[in-house]
Amino acid sequence: MSIVIALLVFIILPYYLTGNVVVYTSNGYKLTIENKDDSFSNETRQHLIDTYFKVMPEMNAYFGQNKRDARLTIDPGYKGAAVTTGSNIVLSAEFIRKYPESYDAVTHEFAHVVQSYPKYDPSWLVEGIADFARYKWGVNNKKGGWSLPDFKSDQKYTDA
Ligand SMILES: [Zn+2]
Repeated sequence: MSIVIALLVFIILPYYLTGNVVVYTSNGYKLTIENKDDSFSNETRQHLIDTYFKVMPEMNAYFGQNKRDARLTIDPGYKGAAVTTGSNIVLSAEFIRKYPESYDAVTHEFAHVVQSYPKYDPSWLVEGIADFARYKWGVNNKKGGWSLPDFKSDQKYTDA
């Protein structure tokens, strides 16, 4: 194998597959994925992409919104599960590696993109609507082991 091909296969190609920014577009929707995690799997990447292009049009239609652009960063340094600011989502690399079937966590975050409320207030209501969206449009909640909690009489709406 020539040195140029070896360089391409062993250095440039793995970097291209794991350490870069890729923009995906479909039907007027755009998703940018920035991956900072060497162990981020292509299978999980595909789940996140498929989920985005499936749930965003449905949530936009339901909530009367037209949010078509989001950026998703796979971050090994983020200690929570996932967080959204505007249309920027940070997904914990460790979380999605440990719970690869829980990719509807991004359905909840995509709901925050659709919400685009000017204030995070009241937070229990914002989070409750995002959980409702995950419940209604999530594609893998059952396999991911996620559901809305059953009613308990000691719960308050502010628990969310
Ligand atoms: Zn949330």
